[in-house]
Amino acid sequence: MIRRKLPVAVLGATGAVGQTFVRLLAAHPWFELQELAASERSAGRRYGDAAHWIDGDPPRGIAERCVVPCTPEHVQSPVVFSALDSSVAGEVELAFARAGRFVLSNARNHRMEPDVPLLIPEVNPEHLALLDRQRRERGWEGAIVTNGNCAVIVIAMALAPLHQRFGVRQVFVTTMQAVSGAGYPGVPSLDILGNVIPFIAGEEEKIAPETCKFLGRVTDGVLHPAQIAVSAQVTRVPVQHGHTVSLAVALERRASQRDVFAAFAEWRGAPQARELPSAPERPLILHDAVDRPQPRRDADAGGGMSVTVGAVRADSILDVRLVATGHNTVRGAAGASVLNAELLVAQGVIPAT
Ligand code: NAP
Repeated sequence: MIRRKLPVAVLGATGAVGQTFVRLLAAHPWFELQELAASERSAGRRYGDAAHWIDGDPPRGIAERCVVPCTPEHVQSPVVFSALDSSVAGEVELAFARAGRFVLSNARNHRMEPDVPLLIPEVNPEHLALLDRQRRERGWEGAIVTNGNCAVIVIAMALAPLHQRFGVRQVFVTTMQAVSGAGYPGVPSLDILGNVIPFIAGEEEKIAPETCKFLGRVTDGVLHPAQIAVSAQVTRVPVQHGHTVSLAVALERRASQRDVFAAFAEWRGAPQARELPSAPERPLILHDAVDRPQPRRDADAGGGMSVTVGAVRADSILDVRLVATGHNTVRGAAGASVLNAELLVAQGVIPAT
């Protein structure tokens, strides 16, 4: 399908998510990483000096590249991945979409707008129908597609097979979120080492609306969020990468343990059917060991693109209990955006060159 690689850029390329984009895009079969953009503090500097690289070293040839400012004048690529801090992402992403670019965003700013797809390709690919309305009503050639909060992506992927087969009515969720979810330098080490912090600013409020948007329906260009009551408690834990969520779920229809296991084990989506380059063979891995999933052992499953589900059992108050773990900067951020872009190319929304 792709004859020549499509030039792409990363906005916020120096941050924790930006670095994951750089790593994933450096070897991508469809995309060519053309520009690395960040704040005025970094612009004009060598990438290797501007970015405090967190894991290992930058891919070959990347450290020598020059960081450019986050403006459509300095960034020519038709596709831009945004890993910008939310204090600036809103306006910068709008400027790129107005300039005709396809913006794949990780930031929270545009996620809940009614004409902006909040996309997980396995969960709600039909939400891309919102783009017609977005481009028509806003009068731009570009587009904004977002991925969700890193914990919500894990929650929505774990709930999707249950919601599709049995309907989900209520959810109690507690998150155990890795420190890399706070970016770099993030949480001070003396606050988090040997500790659990039951608060992450602005996080709890996102869980119910984003979960309901992901699992909602789009008909005639209008989004109808799923009617699911969600009660959430977030925590930050001393884990480097990988968000873990503990869920208790009430279903609309009765389901046996075997039905529930089958729903998880058989679940696949558009990326697997289309064999997209970043699609894991299994988006959900059902683990049968009693003590899994664990972030250190399971966050990298499927190259960080699979969510591992385990401890699936009957709940004594609601219907089903389970635990799920996913990599927060891969499936929860950069990898999610790259998969979204691949779906847009595969569907012809982003023209392939
Ligand atoms: P981070 O490490 O703090 O990186 C922030 C990036 O934004 C840096 O590249 C920074 O560039 C850039 N930036 C800051 N102010 C700017 C400005 N005025 N103009 C242009 N660029 C500016 O944060 P992160 O964890 O990578 O998160 C990035 C985004 O993804 C956030 O919106 C976050 O909420 C979202 N997200 C994060 C995760 C995760 O697991 N970490 C998961 C999902 C979503 P400089 O280095 O030049 O300052």
